[in-house]
Amino acid sequence: MAQLHRPGSLDEAVELLSGLDNAMVYGGGTAIQILIKQGILFADHFVDLATVPGLREVTADDRGVTVGPMVSIRRMETAAPPLAADAYRHVANPRVRNTASVGGNLAHGDYRLDPPTALLVLDAVVLATSAGGTREIPVREFFTDFQETALEPGELVSGVRIPNQDASAGYHFEKNSSLGENDWPCASAAVLLDDRTVHIGLGAVAPVPVYVTADIAGLDDQGAVDAAIAAVEPVLDPIPDVRGGAEYKRRLARVTVEDAVRRAWKDRDHG
Ligand SMILES: Cc1cc2nc3c(=O)[nH]c(=O)nc-3n(C[C@H](O)[C@H](O)[C@H](O)COP(=O)(O)OP(=O)(O)OC[C@H]3O[C@@H](n4cnc5c(N)ncnc54)[C@H](O)[C@@H]3O)c2cc1C
Repeated sequence: MAQLHRPGSLDEAVELLSGLDNAMVYGGGTAIQILIKQGILFADHFVDLATVPGLREVTADDRGVTVGPMVSIRRMETAAPPLAADAYRHVANPRVRNTASVGGNLAHGDYRLDPPTALLVLDAVVLATSAGGTREIPVREFFTDFQETALEPGELVSGVRIPNQDASAGYHFEKNSSLGENDWPCASAAVLLDDRTVHIGLGAVAPVPVYVTADIAGLDDQGAVDAAIAAVEPVLDPIPDVRGGAEYKRRLARVTVEDAVRRAWKDRDHG
């Protein structure tokens, strides 16, 4: 049976993580518990961040918000910039959102996660800490492959910095699920648009969350939709599963992007 460690500081946590054999971080545990029950996760040691002081802090300045790794997803519904807040609000259900952590959500590395779509658009930065210190990883470089992240062995997510959202830009987060409202998405899209560019973060339609942009200078709303769909088309690479086949998800991705762009366009006009 795996041993649970309760470090008293971040330094102690990273020392345990690098010093113990087959150790992994325990955040909120929502993903870990399911993987254990499914019999597909084997760790000898869990380094629990729940009692480490200072990891649940949210600090805001004129550039944005910096969030500790153990801040709950629920709290991000009000603490994050509006586009990210909407994406966090769409994660699972209140029970999961109250327990799951910001750091665990990113480190989980699942291609269907909702929050990364908005964090990609907003150009957030992941703070990764190991015994050797802390480095910054742009979210746009964080998801490297299917269930893989840029975290090195012995590194943990110690924070996320999310820049302020351009207040004059229109935005919208759109999520479509096939099995139920609180379920994982079949396709999700976070969209931010100004007069020149539409920024799109996509979830569940490729092996990793994806970020693309399209030039929309001088276009009307239909032109912006067409440009956005043309930009996402080459990156669509859905994984067929119980929630839908590849072609269904490909079509749903286009619909999701169209809806998100139209709503962001209206939001900008009325904002
Ligand atoms: C029923 C259900 C439905 C869900 N639906 C959705 C959904 O619709 N959309 C969505 O986005 N997500 C969904 N999720 C996933 C949910 O967002 C993740 O389970 C959750 O975010 C993981 O956070 P956690 O803190 O519980 O991580 P944990 O379960 O503690 O850990 C998950 C992984 O991250 C690692 N880890 C944890 N914290 C850190 C850290 N600080 N640094 C480095 N590694 C760390 C762990 O070692 C583990 O590998 C769903 C989950 C459940 C159980």
